[in-house]
Parts: sequence; structure tokens; C-alpha cells
Amino acid sequence: MKYFVMYNEIGLKGKNRPFFENKLVENIEKQTGMRARRIMGRILVEGNNPKKLKYVFGVSHYAKIIVCDQDIEKIGKKVLSEMKKMKGKTMKVFSSRADKDIPKTSIQISREIGEILFNAGYKGNMKNPDISIFVEFIGGKTYIYFEKIKGPGGLPVGSSGKVVSLLSGGIDSPVSTWYAMKRGCEVICLHVHAFKENKKAEKSKIKDILKNISAYCPSIKCYFIPYYIYQSNVMGVPEKFELALFRRYLFKLAEKICEKEGAKAIYTGESLGQVASQTLESIYAVNESVKTPIMRPLIGFDKQEIICTAKYIDTYNLSITQYKDCCSIIARHPATKPKLERVLEIEKTVPMEKIILNSLYEASSIQIP
Ligand code: ATP
Ligand code: MG
Repeated sequence: MKYFVMYNEIGLKGKNRPFFENKLVENIEKQTGMRARRIMGRILVEGNNPKKLKYVFGVSHYAKIIVCDQDIEKIGKKVLSEMKKMKGKTMKVFSSRADKDIPKTSIQISREIGEILFNAGYKGNMKNPDISIFVEFIGGKTYIYFEKIKGPGGLPVGSSGKVVSLLSGGIDSPVSTWYAMKRGCEVICLHVHAFKENKKAEKSKIKDILKNISAYCPSIKCYFIPYYIYQSNVMGVPEKFELALFRRYLFKLAEKICEKEGAKAIYTGESLGQVASQTLESIYAVNESVKTPIMRPLIGFDKQEIICTAKYIDTYNLSITQYKDCCSIIARHPATKPKLERVLEIEKTVPMEKIILNSLYEASSIQIP
């Protein structure tokens, strides 16, 4: 079977357009196992896995196509034989031509095909046709399709560069990770876990979450770091400030992994005001721990909206299963308005550099697939 892939935003990229298109071709091939190639403003895909195109960012729509010569009679015949298999008696023809050397305008082409269909008993309906017929003249061939199926939109994964996404066992961070991919980021996750050994975390539900979001990208890598290294070095920190300090540690770790991987930003699943660590004051006290930009795609979403997306990307059920997250070990009563100066004073009393170095030393990683 042959399919057309259409893309929106990539079309706006000017000189960089071939780069985005090639990335999209590469990702389609990797993610769907189908063959793909560029043809003037479209991507032609061949194979038997069209449903997987719904997971390839950069695809705005796709359509099953019929290919034929640029001969109106032949096109008319092909269209009619397909329409006989469909319900409906009214139609509209939409034509376009990338080949500008054709003597007819697209309006003329539509009209001539419309006439053939009219003579076969179909009526034209410009406002609300039962059957829409799309006819595109490209590179000496005619491509015909009837139905455009919606893709996930966004930009091809990898076209925006790399980021490190902080992934927990909760509902929000798989969603923020998905949003990073949607805007074209190749994502490297970082998960700090409460097990003694990385091996356990690597086999936990985090792996299943990664597997589900990996449907949306060619490949995803995740680093695992045990929480005990941090925990054993911060004994005696006032309970109220534990959470802010831990979050500064998370960001500092993420920044180091950014440096190692050539990533340019950190993604988190924070949503303003959702919990104590996500008040403006908390974000202020934690944000300046690193120079790397911190992206918070969920900042303006309500929990219910995030849950809706989590269900859509099939991570929700995994997120709500029992898991010992390290944030649940930390302080039951954190300050909702930790002052930056106090947090900095407290941070001076712990060997943060050493904790980070030891943590990185203990890190392991997996790649899916
Ligand atoms: P989530 O549902 O994603 O767990 P949350 O509402 O529980 O989020 P927090 O626990 O405050 O919020 O965490 C905020 C963000 O910090 C998470 O969305 C995630 O990006 C990051 N984060 C939290 N815990 C961890 C962890 N153990 N390892 C890596 N990142 C984490
Ligand atoms: Mg959490």
C-alpha cells in the first residue's frame, strides 16, 4: 500500500526545510518500518503499517493514495471505480499541481474530473459533499486520495536537538516528556529511584512508562540514579527545606547529564501551584540552581487536563500503580514558600559537589528500543 504524509509547520522552515523533511523521512522509516521518500511537499510512504504514522511527530495528516498517469480520462475511471465502493452521491473534487508546466489550472482539472463523475450520476456539492476527492499532480504522476487521517502534528523528533527530561513515577512527567518530543526534541530521561540497585529500577514500571512513550520517537534513553547517595549525605537538613534542596540536586544532576549528552534544556512535569514544590516561591528557590534552561510544558495545565493527555498517550494506568517514589520519602511537611537565601545557606552545609559526582558515578542507563 502507498500513503501520502502531509506536514504543516515544516513547510515554514525556509532554507532548513530539507533538514526537517529528511528527519521526518528517517523517523517514519524507523518508527513504522515502512519505506519513505520526499516528493515535492509530500512524503511518499510504502508499506503495511499506516496506523503507526499516528505516532510520528511532524505528520499532520496521512492518506492512502492511488497513483496514476496525468490523464483526465484515466483519473476519472480510477476515481469512479473507488467511489463505487463508497456510500454517498454528492462529491467535490480538490485538485492541486506542483508541476507548473501542465497547461491546465487546478480549477480546470477539478472541473473536468467533476464532469466525468457528474456523467456517471454523482452530483456536485461544494459545501458539504458526501465524498471528497483529492487529486494532486506531482512529478509527472497523479496522486488520488479520499480521506485525510489526522497525525500527531508537532515537529520531527530530533529536529530541535536534545533535552534531558526529569522522569518520576507520577502522572505528570511522562506527559511533559511527550510534549518535549512533540516539539522535536530527542529526549534523554533521568530517573532518581528509591531502590538500592539500578537493576531493580531498570525493570520497574518506569521501564514500562518509557516503553509506552517510546512509541512516539525512534529511540529513548534513560539514566537511573539511586536516591540513597543523596539521602545519606543530607542528614540533619531542616525538614521544611528538604524538598527544595532535593529539587536543586535533581536539576544539578540533570545539568551534568545535559553537558555529557550535548543536551540544551531540562524538562519537568511541574504545573504551577499543583503541590508545595510548585508554588512560585518554590520554583524561584530552585530554578537558579542551574544555568540550563528549564522547560515546564505543563505549567498552565490543570491536573484533569494532564490526566486526559496521560490517558491518551497510554501512561496513566502505569503512573497510578503503586511505586515508591523518592519524593514520597522526603518531608511530609515542606515549606510552601521556601526563601532562596535560606535554601542557599542550607545547601552550603551539605557536600553538594561530592553528592553529584558520586551520583553520576553510580548512574546506569537503558535505551529503548
Ligand atoms: P509527577 O506526577 O510527574 O511525579 P508530581 O506532581 O508528583 O509530578 P513532583 O513530585 O513535585 O510533582 O515533581 C515535579 C517534577 O520533578 C516531576 O514532574 C518530574 O519532572 C521531576 N521529578 C520528581 N521526582 C523525580 C525523580 N524521582 N526523578 C526524576 N525526576 C523527578
Ligand atoms: Mg512525582
